[in-house]
Amino acid sequence: MANQPTADRSTADQPIATPVPAKDPRAITAYHAHVYYDPAKTRGRAERLRQRVAEQFPQAKLGRWHDERVGPHPQAMYQIAFAPEMLAEFVPWLMLNRDGLTVLLHPETGDNYTDHSAHAAWFGSVLPLRLNVFQRK
Ligand code: ZN
Repeated sequence: MANQPTADRSTADQPIATPVPAKDPRAITAYHAHVYYDPAKTRGRAERLRQRVAEQFPQAKLGRWHDERVGPHPQAMYQIAFAPEMLAEFVPWLMLNRDGLTVLLHPETGDNYTDHSAHAAWFGSVLPLRLNVFQRK
């Protein structure tokens, strides 16, 4: 598939003799968890998860429901934006409570393309993002 993200596209084409410098996680200003669902089949589970997040993590910012595909996202989803300080508490909670829904977790470093590909982690399945919506840096 042409739009399939590759695991490590940002570094895969670098010669071994000139490794890229290690990146500093302090460049991460926030995280997004994108919760994917099927409007016809799993919206109820997505609603329950959303409600639980709102109750237990009121400091997280819940994005709008996108029943239609938007940006690089190949399925319906909503976004949960949260501060780096929440990561250690929220991510394990999400792992245990995603209820079979696919989740994309990615940092925000200012490089959308890499944040959504090489920097990303998936829970459940890996979905083919439409990364061509982003400019490569
Ligand atoms: Zn995002």
